[in-house]
Amino acid sequence: MNIDQESQDNLLSVNESGNNEAELLRESRILEHTHSFIVEYNFKTKQCYIDPAQRRHVYGDWQSDINNDRINYKKVVLRDDIPAIQAFFDFSDLKAGDSRSISARFYVEAHEYEWYRVSLVCYADAEGEKERVLITFTNAERELETVRKLKFLLAKDPLTHMPNLESFLQMTEKMICTHPDQSYAIIRMDIDKFRIINQMYGTKEGDNILRYIGVKIQEWAGPILETSTYCRISSDLFCICMPADAGDIQEIIDFIQTSLHAYPLKFDMVMSFGVYITCEEDRREQTCVSTLMDRAASAQRMVKNSYMNHVAYYDSVIRKKEIAEQIIISEMKKALETNQFQVYLQPKCQMDTGKIIGSEALVRWIHPSQGIISPSEFIPVFEKNGFISELDYYVLRATCQMIRKWLDDGKKVYPISVNVSRTDLYNPNLPEQIKACVAEFDVPHELIAFELTESAFISDNMQLYNLARLLQENHFHVMMDDFGSGYSSLNSLREIPVDVLKIDLKFLPPSSDDKRGNVILHSIVDMAKRLGLEVIVEGVETIEQVEFLLSIGCRNAQGFYFYRPMPVSEYERCLEEKPKEISVRRQEELNR
Ligand code: C2E
Ligand code: CA
Ligand code: CA
Repeated sequence: MNIDQESQDNLLSVNESGNNEAELLRESRILEHTHSFIVEYNFKTKQCYIDPAQRRHVYGDWQSDINNDRINYKKVVLRDDIPAIQAFFDFSDLKAGDSRSISARFYVEAHEYEWYRVSLVCYADAEGEKERVLITFTNAERELETVRKLKFLLAKDPLTHMPNLESFLQMTEKMICTHPDQSYAIIRMDIDKFRIINQMYGTKEGDNILRYIGVKIQEWAGPILETSTYCRISSDLFCICMPADAGDIQEIIDFIQTSLHAYPLKFDMVMSFGVYITCEEDRREQTCVSTLMDRAASAQRMVKNSYMNHVAYYDSVIRKKEIAEQIIISEMKKALETNQFQVYLQPKCQMDTGKIIGSEALVRWIHPSQGIISPSEFIPVFEKNGFISELDYYVLRATCQMIRKWLDDGKKVYPISVNVSRTDLYNPNLPEQIKACVAEFDVPHELIAFELTESAFISDNMQLYNLARLLQENHFHVMMDDFGSGYSSLNSLREIPVDVLKIDLKFLPPSSDDKRGNVILHSIVDMAKRLGLEVIVEGVETIEQVEFLLSIGCRNAQGFYFYRPMPVSEYERCLEEKPKEISVRRQEELNR
C-alpha cells in the first residue's frame, strides 16, 4: 500500500470514530471504486473493524473470526495459499512500524476465488507500544482490468475503436523513424456538411456513419497494417499515414468515397481529402507528425465544401498562401491602429439616368510596403480568426464619421451600405454596438444600410433572421448580399426580413446564348418585386448587361461598367459630375 502517513492516520481516525455515517459512506464508495477494502485490528481492545459495505468483497465472516483470534482460513483462502496467509496473519512477532505485503487467492463466492494483494502496517501508541494494525485488501484482478480499460481508452477512440489521435501520433512517429528513407502521405479527411447530416438524421445516425467509415478504413488498411497508421482525430475527421505511392493514395480515396456513396442514406455524402507528401526536407529535419497533419489540413481547406474537387495536395502555392496568411495575422492589429485600413466607396446608380443613389463601403488595406491589398486576400483570414468583427466595426465607424462630416458641411448625402460578415452573426452585442456607433455620430438611420449574406449552415440563419429583424426594427435598411450564390435560397426570402435583394451577376450571368439563365434572372426580379423588395444588381460590366437588365425592369446597379470602388475624395468628385444617361453611354459605345 502506498498510503502516506497522513492518509493512513486519517483512515484510522475515520474508522475509529465508527459512527460518522457520511464519512464511512464516502470512504466505502472510494474503496469500492478502487476494488480495495480495509480492515483495522486493535491489539489492546482486540476489536476489529471492517466496513460493513466492503465485507462482501471477500467471502466469510472476517469480523468475528479475527476478533476471536481464529480465522477460518479454509473458508476464505484457497488451500494452496493458506500457509503463506497464516504466516502473514501471525502478528506475534509484529513490531510497531513494521509493514509487509503478500498476494493470495481469496474466495469471492463459495467456489470462486480471485487474486488479492494484502498489505499491512503496524502502528504504535503514544508510548511506542504496538497498538493497531491496518490491513488493506486490493483485488489485483480488478485492478489489472481497470488498467487494461484505461489503456484501451487512452489508445482507442471509443466510438469507432480506431486508434485515437494520441496513439496515431506516437505510432506514426515510430513508423517514420523506423523507415527513415520512405516518403509518406498524410491523408486528412472529413465529411462535407456533417453537421447538417447530424441535424437531419440525428446524432445516432451520425455516429453510425462515423463507425462505418472507421470500418472501411480499417478494412482497407488491414492488409498493409505494418506500413500504415490511421485514426479518428475527432468528430468526423479521420487521418491516414501510408507510403506515398500515388496509385495507392488515389485507391484509398476512391474506396472511401465509393463506400460512402453506398451508405444507405438519402443524402449525397461527400468527403474532402487533403494530402501532404513528406519530402527530403521533412526527413532531414524530422518534421513532427502534427506539422505534417497541419499541412494536410491546409490542403483540405482548399476543397472543403467545393462542388467540383474533393482532393487537394499540399503544394508550393498553398505554402506561399500560408506564409502570406501568417504575415497578415502578424500585422493586422498594428495595421488597424495605424489606419492602414481605408474605406473605399463604390457608387450604386440608376442605370437609365446614370445618377448616383448611394454606395457600398469596401475596405482596402493600404500596406506601407506592399501597396493596396485586396479584401479577398485578408477578409477570409480575418473571418477565420475572428478579427473581422473589429474590422467591420472600424468600417462602420469610419462610414458614420464620413457621413457626419458631409452633413456638417451641408452636403447632400446618399446612403452607404456596410458589409456584415457571417462570423459577426455570432456576436450577440452587435445590434447594440451598431446602434451606439450610429448614435455617437448622430447619423440618421436611413443613411446606413447593412449587407448580410446568407449562411451555408441552416442553424446560422436563425442568427441572420434575428439580426435582420433587429436592424429593421431600428429603421436600418437590410440588404441580402450575393443573392444567387451557392448559399442563398429563394425559400429564405420568405423568412429573413430584408428590404433589398442584391443580385450578383457573377452568380447569375445573363447572356444572349443562355436563354434559361436569362429566364431565371427575369423571374427572380419579378418575384422580388412582387414581394415588395427593391432589387439592385451588382457586377454589371457591359452595356449589353445594362440593356438586358433595364429590359427586365431592373433599374439600379453597381458595377465596373459605371464605377469601380474608389477613395472617398474621388467619390466626392464623382457626385459633382453630371450623370451620364443611358442614351449618351449607348452613343459612346457606338463611337468606339
Ligand atoms: P461584396 O460585398 O460582394 O462586394 C462586391 C465586390 O465586387 C467588391 O470586391 C467589388 O469591387 C466587386 N465588384 C464590384 N463591381 C464589380 C464588377 O462589375 N465586376 C467584378 N468582377 N467585380 C465587381 P472587393 O472590394 O474586392 O470585395 C470583395 C469582398 O470582400 C466583398 O464582396 C465582401 O464580401 C468583402 N468585403 C469587402 N469589404 C468588406 C468589409 O468592410 N467587411 C466585410 N465583412 N467584408 C468586406
Ligand atoms: Ca457586399
Ligand atoms: Ca456582393
